Amino acid sequence: MYDVIIIGAGIVGCAVARALSRYQLDILVMEKGADVAVGATKANSGILHAGYDCAPGTLKATLNVRGLQLYKTLAQELGIPHRMNGSLVVSNEADTSAGLAKLRALYDQGIANGVTGLELLDATQTHALEPNLHPSVNGALRATTAGIISPYEAAIAFAENAATNGVRFLLETTVTSVCAADNEIGYVVYTDRHGAASAYHTRVVINAAGTESGVVANHLRGLTRPTAFPGSACDARHKDIPPVKIHPQRGQYYLLDNTQRDLISHTVFQLPTHKGKGVLIAPTVEGNVLLGPTAEAIDDNQRANDPAATATTRDGLAEALDKARLTLAHVPIGDRITAFAGVRAKHNGGDFIVEEMPEGFISAIGIDSPGLTAAPAIAERLAELALTHLARSERAGSPLSPPGEKFNDPVLKSNFINQREPITRLRDLPPDMQARLVATKSNDAEGMRPAPFDSPVYGSVVCRCETITQAEITEAMRRFAALQNPATASQPVAICDQLKKSFAAIPANLDAIKRRSRAQMGRCQGGFCTVRLVELISREHAIPEEAVTKNGQGSEIVQI
Ligand SMILES: Cc1cc2nc3c(=O)[nH]c(=O)nc-3n(C[C@H](O)[C@H](O)[C@H](O)COP(=O)(O)OP(=O)(O)OC[C@H]3O[C@@H](n4cnc5c(N)ncnc54)[C@H](O)[C@@H]3O)c2cc1C
Repeated sequence: MYDVIIIGAGIVGCAVARALSRYQLDILVMEKGADVAVGATKANSGILHAGYDCAPGTLKATLNVRGLQLYKTLAQELGIPHRMNGSLVVSNEADTSAGLAKLRALYDQGIANGVTGLELLDATQTHALEPNLHPSVNGALRATTAGIISPYEAAIAFAENAATNGVRFLLETTVTSVCAADNEIGYVVYTDRHGAASAYHTRVVINAAGTESGVVANHLRGLTRPTAFPGSACDARHKDIPPVKIHPQRGQYYLLDNTQRDLISHTVFQLPTHKGKGVLIAPTVEGNVLLGPTAEAIDDNQRANDPAATATTRDGLAEALDKARLTLAHVPIGDRITAFAGVRAKHNGGDFIVEEMPEGFISAIGIDSPGLTAAPAIAERLAELALTHLARSERAGSPLSPPGEKFNDPVLKSNFINQREPITRLRDLPPDMQARLVATKSNDAEGMRPAPFDSPVYGSVVCRCETITQAEITEAMRRFAALQNPATASQPVAICDQLKKSFAAIPANLDAIKRRSRAQMGRCQGGFCTVRLVELISREHAIPEEAVTKNGQGSEIVQI
């Protein structure tokens, strides 16, 4: 029996896994994608919002400000790339005083939310800070506490550190149903993995399924029965819980090459509208520039990682570009290197929902923007609810775990490791270090394990656009594998006999390597390095090249 099963390995699931990994608990994370950070977390603006644009008194406002504060320590501990570059909300309304009144209202809202570092700027001050703005910009609200972060690397960092501390990640594992357990202790989580059905018993479920958090929450109402387990205890004990509905909303972007790194230094927003924060111009931590996102309602049944939901459209990209042209004097669109879309998990109520309903079933619902910024604070709340439930049920005594047998209250680990090192990037090192690493023959240098074959691993550049070496690719593959096999993880206890298939680690895929190493993220978008990467993945995992995938089963790219 697990103490906690977390459904969904986006930024919220990974952050709460890391928060709970401080305690002596058996924790399993189930993710239907072929990596962590494959939903909304992989495709967003990457902004650490200051917190002025959430209505005062909302959970969004509170958790935005708290999350931003928590990242200060977390980013240091976990080596997450970020930069506190500040943000501007610019006005170019023809009626200058009407625009300034809207900026003033945002300023006041920020003060009410406890945001510091806010100042109102006139046209001259604004253009002095950002010379490439459109001449019509006539004022701005500056927030010096805002920043930018790599969203997927943040989730990967949380996940890696959680795994170091004993949390296991089950990838390509879809939760098909969750039911109250027969014996009234905890829940049974039913899964499908490559066609194999399994069931897991747990004291606490944390629902961090993003656009599917509504579907997962609705399982409990007893409406979905796990077909593979006809005699299961999937009753409708909780049928009176109000149903949850998520309305997905797509945002499309253009990404400009890092040759445009000096285009803008702050993140620049337009005045918000009823649809959201509007189209922004944002530098990324890697030196690229984002233009977008749009805000389009899509079919309610689409999910954050459905190809149809994340497809870009001619109209959507045209809208993003037209709006960007209101902010910048000149948009160097000829330097775009790709376009992409992300999907927000909008909920009718508008606010985040972080609640325990019913006991031991804890959900994060409607986590749209600023969910990335708020994630550490959402995780803090989710963890607190889980720990309180575990302590409460332990005190009440349970037939499965008599008081005192395992823990009286969840206990902190004495050997918790709070640090995680990012992958060493050759290109960022001083020349003498580069020379030393290039001279080594295997990943053994710097304490790494041997490379799959003998070659100058740091001297072999695989991705030319981003200067990523073979050593970095190897390290990315091994970190991916380590998520699924943490050294300290306890043995799984699944109810049905599918253990081998259910727990086998999946090999790294091209997108997983991209998010960890940046290979394929440059100007050629993998045109030159994909063949080499397929070869490296095949050799590292001892699988045929035809089995190497882009992003999990069904996306094999070498056809024979
Ligand atoms: C266009 C856009 C721009 C944004 N910009 C910002 C920004 O600049 N700053 C900011 O703070 N926030 C921003 N956000 C919001 C932020 O990206 C999200 O709030 C955050 O990523 C949500 O994380 P999550 O973990 O809740 O969801 P997700 O990242 O979607 O993760 C949920 C995971 O659950 C998995 N899952 C779902 N169902 C199941 C199942 N049945 N079984 C197993 N696994 C399942 C999914 O595969 C997915 O990986 C933006 C969002 C979008 C879309």
